[in-house]
Amino acid sequence: MGLNRPDSRLAELIAGIRHCRKCGLAKLRHHAVPGEGNPNARLLFVGEAPGAKEDQTGRPFVGPAGRFLNQLFVAFNIRREAVFITSCVKCRPPGNRNPTANELAACVGGWLLPQIELIDPEIIVLLGRMAALTLLDKPVKISEAHGTLVVRNGRKYFISYHPAAGLRFPRIAATMRTDFKALMELVRHP
Ligand code: URA
Repeated sequence: MGLNRPDSRLAELIAGIRHCRKCGLAKLRHHAVPGEGNPNARLLFVGEAPGAKEDQTGRPFVGPAGRFLNQLFVAFNIRREAVFITSCVKCRPPGNRNPTANELAACVGGWLLPQIELIDPEIIVLLGRMAALTLLDKPVKISEAHGTLVVRNGRKYFISYHPAAGLRFPRIAATMRTDFKALMELVRHP
């Protein structure tokens, strides 16, 4: 494998995330959570920030919200290994508080945007308000924008709720199923 291949550059980036000290969350984490999946994924799923289970394991979406996301994946024949899953912020904010503007700026500029460039997915799936706000750079009302595709600077973004919301509210779970159905139509007929 050539050293400049995107796969090896992504592996380097992931190693950088694991040792990152760009913000104060580094001191509080057990494990950074760079994300995982296929370096050549067509779909890149972006959440908000790791929770307790992710912090313990260093893996994305392995807690309760992750179990709900896995259910959606199974229902729509999406293999976790075929896609890439990550979050805006790679270290757990204490008590699952929202990431601060500084934490977001450090992590998104330093890690998420380079990850997006290297993976170069066909569609970035924005899971929840924080991911939508961060990557579309403007406040988004998820209750209105969910299920839609937004093209920004030549990249396609598909908006849905965060799986933690689907886990808490059956109506949102049902809406996410409808969103994922629309997403899979877009994947089949780009
Ligand atoms: N929520 C996220 O946004 N990311 C995770 O990895 C877990 C929960």
